[in-house]
Amino acid sequence: MGRKLLLDKAHIEGIRYYDVYRKNGGYAAAEKALKSMSPDLVTEEVKKSGLRGRGGAGFPTGLKWSFLAKPEGVPRYLVCNADESEPGTFKDRYLMEFIPHLLIEGLLISSFALGANRTYIYIRGEYAWIPDILEEAIAEAHKNGWLGKNIQGTGFDLDIYVQRGAGAYICGEETALIESLEGKRGNPRIKPPFPAVKGLWQCPTVVNNVETLAAVVPIINIGGDEYAKYGTGKSTGTKLISACGNLNKPGVYEIDMSISVEEFIYSDEYCGGIPNGKRLKACIPGGSSVPILPANLLLKTAKGEQRMMTYESLNDGGFATGSMMGSGGFIVLDEDQCVVRHTMSLARFYHHESCGQCSPCREGTGWMKKVLLNIENGKGKESDIDLLWDIQRRIEGNTICPLGDAAAWPVAAAIRHFRDEFEWHVRHPEEAVKRNFGLAHYADPLPVAAPAAAV
Ligand code: SF4
Repeated sequence: MGRKLLLDKAHIEGIRYYDVYRKNGGYAAAEKALKSMSPDLVTEEVKKSGLRGRGGAGFPTGLKWSFLAKPEGVPRYLVCNADESEPGTFKDRYLMEFIPHLLIEGLLISSFALGANRTYIYIRGEYAWIPDILEEAIAEAHKNGWLGKNIQGTGFDLDIYVQRGAGAYICGEETALIESLEGKRGNPRIKPPFPAVKGLWQCPTVVNNVETLAAVVPIINIGGDEYAKYGTGKSTGTKLISACGNLNKPGVYEIDMSISVEEFIYSDEYCGGIPNGKRLKACIPGGSSVPILPANLLLKTAKGEQRMMTYESLNDGGFATGSMMGSGGFIVLDEDQCVVRHTMSLARFYHHESCGQCSPCREGTGWMKKVLLNIENGKGKESDIDLLWDIQRRIEGNTICPLGDAAAWPVAAAIRHFRDEFEWHVRHPEEAVKRNFGLAHYADPLPVAAPAAAV
């Protein structure tokens, strides 16, 4: 069995509640940090651990913390990004729903390290039932002296507030999240200044993902050096993966980042293979915005080496032959799935979620959706494939926030690896429509015309 650091106690009945959590070693890390360590020492342990942000970007957490500005007399904030909206990603939900005190404890230790006395959990609106669970856990922590004034007699104060989002994907981007938290429309900000200097209410702010903050607990419990022994290379520790699609055992798994992609898909300990003996066609290994990989490049890199479940190995070959760990949303497609339909579905999503501030994203995502809908509905032309390529190329790197890239990458990778499937659709329109279960209801009322001029 793989070693676990986050979900090792998930099976214990009642672990959601303070008494059970505490009886099973809960808040020991907080006690250690607050009573026997300095804030700088906590940050040092997190740096030693090699922990990388688990929300998608994979930036080193300790380094991010060390960027936080500390001007005299200005409050600092820690914000927990629980706006888990990337299609295929549902691992933070699991942590918050079943082990909420792990997040509360992680927030407490991290706030202590950062010198933040007020912390917010910004949670996606669709997780409608989870704020109640978190608020219950916060109330229990207060009652037992782990929140509020003079926590456990250490002189440190902390209050945690839960803020519900209204369902916008873009609020997962840290500056959009901050805007939303301030009560404004969730539009991403132009950076710099970065949140570490001017974040929430123009004060220094760190925004960390749920899993990242939860991982601080085992880091303090066992020490940064010991944590770094899990995983390999620059992918230290364990990682939660939410696996879905054509798998015998979809679900949330904690992996030691030293296993291969093949083991993760086919072993009984994890996903248990593809249902009905079907062949693996492709996989999006890190949430919907990362490049799709065909089976041959998923199991082995372009160099012929075994592809591992690590940040480095999943990205081996860059986007030409690799992908990304991203948010850990692992979406598997079997041989019956249509990549064109899948790409169209994602294009619709990103167009819908674009905040509209920048033209390449606002217009480009709309044109990609329209062209893909036409291809899907048997109205595509051969030239549409190059047109799609051109549109995505004009979006990538030309926008305020990463949503533009997130919309462009799936289209680019689908064409790069499955161009023959796009060609088959435009050459066999009637068969393509039939094969896609006659999804005529996806028809878009707007005709495709002169998109190149619009981007
Ligand atoms: Fe808004 Fe898209 Fe620009 Fe991001 S890239 S700021 S979502 S328009």
